Amino acid sequence: MHTCLNYIDGHWLPPASGETMESRNPAHWRELVATFGRSGDIDIEMAVTAARHAYRTWRRVPAPERAEFLYRFGELLCDRKAELAYLMSQEMGKPLTEANGDVQEGIDCAFYYAGEGRRLFGQTTTSEMDNKFAMTVRMPIGVCGLITPWNFPIAIPCWKAMPALVCGNTIVLKPSEDTPAVTHLLFEVFHDAGFPPGVVNLVHGLGEEAGKALVEHRDVNLISLTGSSQTGAEVAAICAKQHKRVCLELGGKNAQVVMEDADLELALEGAIWGAFGTSGQRCTATSRLLLHRDIKDKFTKMLLDRTRELRLGPGTDPHTDIGPIVNATQLNTIEEYIKIAHQEGAKILIGGNRTTEGTLTGGFFFEPTILDGVMPNMRVAREEIFGPVVALIEISSFEEAIAILNDTSYGLSSSVYTRDVNRAFQAIRDIEAGITYINGPTIGAEVHLPFGGVKQTGNGHREAGAAALDVFTEWKTVYVDFSGRLQRAQIDNRG
Ligand code: NAD
Repeated sequence: MHTCLNYIDGHWLPPASGETMESRNPAHWRELVATFGRSGDIDIEMAVTAARHAYRTWRRVPAPERAEFLYRFGELLCDRKAELAYLMSQEMGKPLTEANGDVQEGIDCAFYYAGEGRRLFGQTTTSEMDNKFAMTVRMPIGVCGLITPWNFPIAIPCWKAMPALVCGNTIVLKPSEDTPAVTHLLFEVFHDAGFPPGVVNLVHGLGEEAGKALVEHRDVNLISLTGSSQTGAEVAAICAKQHKRVCLELGGKNAQVVMEDADLELALEGAIWGAFGTSGQRCTATSRLLLHRDIKDKFTKMLLDRTRELRLGPGTDPHTDIGPIVNATQLNTIEEYIKIAHQEGAKILIGGNRTTEGTLTGGFFFEPTILDGVMPNMRVAREEIFGPVVALIEISSFEEAIAILNDTSYGLSSSVYTRDVNRAFQAIRDIEAGITYINGPTIGAEVHLPFGGVKQTGNGHREAGAAALDVFTEWKTVYVDFSGRLQRAQIDNRG
């Protein structure tokens, strides 16, 4: 059992309230994984004060030197990869192979952004005025409040923390209340990497308490949140009042199209992995399968056969394909959507129930579920379910597929399986999503490429890749005038 403390100004501290909460194994609900602090305003105040103080010197450390801390962090994360992956499986249920991938993404992120320490370029340009240098430089923003979900408990904090730190910002992280133990280990790695006190801070607690206090704090210059669209709206409203920069990565309702000319075996693997990977609890999960009517029956049979082979079990069991649902609330939400699907007239081809058979007793397991006869206007075709549930929708043409695919308020990731190169490029042009795959599943992303969505999936920012540097820096325009006189453009008073 882990005791998870806050990490503030280089010290491990209990919450000011003295109150603790519990995190339990979703595969064996009786098994206590960790206790963690129920933090609030006082803890956030301490963490932000430490981060503000540390910012004064951290921002002046040359970027390549800041990058050295990221390299050390990446190496230490590598050393503890197996331990972290196992704990992640235990705490939030993700199968071990996926958990290893999650940690690896954190490692990749550390090394990628460490490299950016030598590439924080601005631009030099010509001025229309004589005897002037004009240039742009990237400046850090200040104290960054990072708020993260449970489904990628290493990768997502690293996506945010690594670019923030290399750019010269200091951070306060409020992780999900479902993964305190994994985050505690992550901060042990930060501690061992030797970041100066106050540069990285961790405050555990509930979203509406510690999370809200962080968002509201006047000395926090930026909030980067990954979470549900509802949380995003609440956070954005507070930030708008303070004119605070906010980066939002929110929900999705991703679709995979399978055209009549597709490689069906390939499309099948994509659909299975896309719909049921991490038990469908991914922002990029495939939750709609748009199947051309010519292949729909054949593909549906293939899908059912393959789904029957999937093994449910604890994430820590190496034979598990599908782990548990993260908590009871999420399990109830999935059940609620199955009821809605019934009421709306959809047909359940397989699954549709929580399962407690045999070794699954005492866990939050839900069967992989395929809904047929789904119409684009049904709630199960429009709302994010965040579980192992996929809706089959029949389409008759490529144009219809793209129209239905785009008919959603989200726009994170989508994919099209086809052998027709013209259609592939039309899809790239016409799909309204931040990420488009051709002949690949809707999930998966590499750290050197921008990640994010359109419409209600976000607010236009991109994390990962060089694009994240725009989130965590301000551009400054600099003129050096060596003319020794006032020039025409200044006299015109332009701008
Ligand atoms: P959530 O919105 O419930 O919580 C996310 C984080 O926000 C948690 O740390 C939580 O404590 C905090 N929070 C909640 N209410 C808050 C408030 N009022 N003020 C400040 N902080 C608050 O989401 P979740 O259940 O942890 O994660 C699942 C959601 O995240 C899904 O909707 C999923 O699509 C989304 N997600 C998006 C991406 C992406 O990159 N677009 C990636 C992963 C997950």
